[in-house]
Amino acid sequence: MSAPILQLRDLRIAYGAIEAVKGIDLELATGELVSLIGANGAGKTTTLNAIAGTLPIAGGELLYNGQRIEKLPAHKRLRQGLALVPEGRGIFTRLTVEENLRMGAYCRRDDDAVEADLERVFTMLPRVKERLQQVAGTLSGGEQQMVAIGRALLSRPKLLLLDEPSMGLAPLVVEKIFEVISSVAAEGVTILLVEQNANLALEFSQRAYVMESGHITLTGSGDALLADPKVRAAYLGEV
Ligand code: ATP
Repeated sequence: MSAPILQLRDLRIAYGAIEAVKGIDLELATGELVSLIGANGAGKTTTLNAIAGTLPIAGGELLYNGQRIEKLPAHKRLRQGLALVPEGRGIFTRLTVEENLRMGAYCRRDDDAVEADLERVFTMLPRVKERLQQVAGTLSGGEQQMVAIGRALLSRPKLLLLDEPSMGLAPLVVEKIFEVISSVAAEGVTILLVEQNANLALEFSQRAYVMESGHITLTGSGDALLADPKVRAAYLGEV
């Protein structure tokens, strides 16, 4: 395995007195596509937000490229290549698709490279290119998800955190989104994917972690977890 890009050590995250994440260990090697699955309320979104820096941690260590980043504000983490596509996508509904995409590059000064990256995003997301001047709020859910991913790519992420990209989308659209995620991974971007759709997530991921009530209870390769009877019973709807 190459050097870890992300390490969580005994990480704890609390909302006031309530501990939502109760000491988890998680590691991502550079270039991996890893998913974090688990039931509603397990603490997956909380974990992603703490990694991105939009939530403070209550204990433990958070390392990015070997450096402690717990005290680094979210915008500085973004500048170092750590980007989050939040649950619900977080796109600016009144702005056009192009304006949304360019927002992803707001902290960059390398204008020429931004234009080149825009072209790369268009190649990966041709549907987005067709709709550049459309107001983002009028896009379909799948198109909005693609814009949210495209916007994150414009920040030149090294580690992309994706929170429930399939949420609320029809199965065919979900397949498309997963194809996009695979092509982003193929470009060398490390991805941590939070998903309710455990089947697809495990199929597409090299490794995965299962989270239950604030703890990591299982980890392994996507294939091993897909075959695990406990995972099949709890998350793949089998009895
Ligand atoms: P889901 O798939 O439903 O989003 P999740 O695994 O992402 O689930 P989280 O959203 O991280 O779970 O929630 C973990 C726990 O923290 C839950 O018990 C939830 O009620 C609680 N929680 C989340 N956000 C807050 C908040 N802002 N204030 C208080 N408690 C919260």
